[in-house]
Amino acid sequence: MDIQKIRDDFPILSQKVYGKPIVYLDNGATTQKPKAVLDTLVRMYAEQNANIHRGVHFLSEQATEAYENARRTVRDFLNAELSQEIIFTSGATAAINLAAFSYGERYVGAGDEIIVSVMEHHSNIVPWQMMCERKGASLKVIPISDSGELLMEEYGKLFSPKTRLVAITHVSNTLGTVNPVKEIIRIAHEAGAHVLVDGAQSVQHIPVDVQDLACDFFAFSGHKLYGPTGIGVLYGRRELLDELPPWQGGGDMVDCVRFEQTTYNELPFKFEAGTANYIDAVGLESAIRYLLSAGMEEIGAYEAALTQYALEQLQQIDGIRIFGTAKHRTGTFSLLLDGIHPYDTGMILDKMGIAVRTGTHCTQPLMQRYGIEGTVRASFALYNTFEEADRLCEGLKKAQKLFKT
Ligand code: PLP
Repeated sequence: MDIQKIRDDFPILSQKVYGKPIVYLDNGATTQKPKAVLDTLVRMYAEQNANIHRGVHFLSEQATEAYENARRTVRDFLNAELSQEIIFTSGATAAINLAAFSYGERYVGAGDEIIVSVMEHHSNIVPWQMMCERKGASLKVIPISDSGELLMEEYGKLFSPKTRLVAITHVSNTLGTVNPVKEIIRIAHEAGAHVLVDGAQSVQHIPVDVQDLACDFFAFSGHKLYGPTGIGVLYGRRELLDELPPWQGGGDMVDCVRFEQTTYNELPFKFEAGTANYIDAVGLESAIRYLLSAGMEEIGAYEAALTQYALEQLQQIDGIRIFGTAKHRTGTFSLLLDGIHPYDTGMILDKMGIAVRTGTHCTQPLMQRYGIEGTVRASFALYNTFEEADRLCEGLKKAQKLFKT
């Protein structure tokens, strides 16, 4: 891959911070946007903006077509069978809340059980917890090894006749672990349970085929995939979605509204109440097209080499603790320097122009598992370079020098 050419596509990367070229390593939180996406957003507002689905006029028809084209692009990107299986939401969080609410209403009762893992983002814990509270159900938790891998034997033991669903992250946003989701799904299905895969940290790194995975739900956010904020996707198998009640009520999700009784629209509109975020959906389509033109396999190969290099360099630093050393991983590194608070490390790096995240990364139960309060997280994306990995290591060593550890 021609990395310089890719970097040139991202205007923000040419910025300087405190007089130094920015090293943006906070991609797990959100990614930067290529010019193609920025241009699409401007073009949509400048040339094609009108509310979708409800207008007979030219602009509304154009916007509707662009929105439904975006849905087809997402369908192909995930290799879903049908466009109706693609529901646009405001992000992964909304997608999981939708699934938890609607699934819970239809399938979960008192005494039932939902399985999650200890490495889940709060977005894939709390919606299930809230649903369990409403329904009188409970959560069971898959433990992990010290290296940050799921204990698959323990996973198998969590099933009971009361297990309804497994909610599992494809890639850990804190450890970078890539979970064996296909195997997880197979085991769950054998036990008669459904599976939701949280793909917020996977779709930008790994080609995803929801039919091959055979997952029941798959959720992701546009902004972590070089697309706009405020747009995300819930994929659901059609037969399952057909059976679920809507999550939110409002315009577009209805067929016939009467005070006596209201009937609902067909899929996917049943789950898209109110004015959809059609502009950002088209922005997301543009981001997907950008990724596909770079090549998911090429991106994977480049990121794997970069991850391996960064890991080797980080491991050479004395007094560093890296959380998550799974065999299958992405370029997300959680680390601590002995005797230095992660916020202090983050501040020193910031002054060197290096953007990392510090804190719990919305994974408090995982922090508890390791007995720590937070980490420094550096997360790499397709536009990061080997030199930037070196600058991160230099920054960490400088922090050690300043704090004399
Ligand atoms: N799941 C994982 C694994 C994440 O990393 C995140 C965000 O960091 C989310 C879910 C929630 O994504 P969003 O905040 O875009 O809804």
